[in-house]
Amino acid sequence: MSNIEFVKKLVFRIAKIGAQRKDMDSPLLVDIEPFRHFFDSKGNLKYNELDVIDGAWTRREILARYLLLSVVLDQGPDIPGVRHLLKNVTNALYRKEIRIFHRPLDFFRELNVSIDEILDKHNSIKKLRAKIWAKLNNSNPSKYNLFFAQSPRGIVSISQVLDYGIHRWGVPLCVLLLLEKDIGDRESTQPFVEYLERFKSSEIMSKQLKNHERYGLGSAIGDKACHLFVKWYVHTFNLSTREDEGWSKWSFEVPFDSNAGRVLFRTGFFTSLASLEDYENWEVIQRDRGKGKTHYIRVTNIRGKKVQVEIDDGDIIHNYKEVILNHLKIRKRVPTKFEIQQIPNAILLNSKYGVGDFDDGLIYVGTRFCFNHDKPDCKNCPLSDLCLGKNEDPELIKNYRT
Ligand code: SF4
Repeated sequence: MSNIEFVKKLVFRIAKIGAQRKDMDSPLLVDIEPFRHFFDSKGNLKYNELDVIDGAWTRREILARYLLLSVVLDQGPDIPGVRHLLKNVTNALYRKEIRIFHRPLDFFRELNVSIDEILDKHNSIKKLRAKIWAKLNNSNPSKYNLFFAQSPRGIVSISQVLDYGIHRWGVPLCVLLLLEKDIGDRESTQPFVEYLERFKSSEIMSKQLKNHERYGLGSAIGDKACHLFVKWYVHTFNLSTREDEGWSKWSFEVPFDSNAGRVLFRTGFFTSLASLEDYENWEVIQRDRGKGKTHYIRVTNIRGKKVQVEIDDGDIIHNYKEVILNHLKIRKRVPTKFEIQQIPNAILLNSKYGVGDFDDGLIYVGTRFCFNHDKPDCKNCPLSDLCLGKNEDPELIKNYRT
């Protein structure tokens, strides 16, 4: 089997696994008290009521707002803890009529209450999660802390609740507030949704989420989180009203996080498309910088890197052109070289699977089997028959960490 045939087989397998596990790792919106009536008795979102007005805005708008704050916070060190924190603080604030997704200004107007609730809920989550987190991460429970900031080295823990509260909670809430203010005399019941959907493609929207001069979140959000937001908005919660190709299930790039990167590295996806030396030159692999004398894989550095082997598969060449011009819409001309993170889009195009399914599959394997140490659960892993690390090159597992 050629490298490309192998990559195709692997991508389809992962997408199939993801399609069977959809939503397993997404925020549980049904647990948010002010949104409960958006769901039926079985916990399914009532899609035919997404345009019903709730307060001043549509339900679609309110859910999209929650996902925005959620995705910004999702960069923290313990995702289950982060999700509890947002859920518990939201519920506590709404019980006090501080309706931060309906009226973002409430968060700042009642800043003392907002900050108290963040501190209080953080303390109770720490009691619940610190020991579990410490065991999983080989750390000390006293180090459990969900407050974080961005540094040149990546995400770092901080102690100051105002830094965390204003930068991480405040910036996305200000985006929503500014959009409300900018409505002016126009009539709108979903200014955030209208803003998101005015871009030619969901991929462009993801870039503007960070970079837009007026509404961009800037350093409050990373590339991965922008792509995760699009995945939730288009694929997981299906909130988009756009039906054109720019908003299809192949119209955004996969949010490459450390779980995804580890699975793609160990299975041989990355090494089928470029050599270990290429990855070292790109600083995707950073020698001796991983835990316990291993090499560190900095997955975010893969973005924009080009495939280094020849692709002579007619379907992929044709699909790649389609993806670039009609779905991602990020270029007017097709580049001469393929970008690695866009290969899943080209492989899955026009199949029954989207890149969201592919990402769901990566998260499932990465969090349940392919642990970030030298003894992943290969025996039970649904990729074990295909995986290069398991079957041919154990160094890919032993010597690298994300
Ligand atoms: S077979 Fe093992 S190394 Fe390969 S993806 Fe599964 S858990 Fe990871």
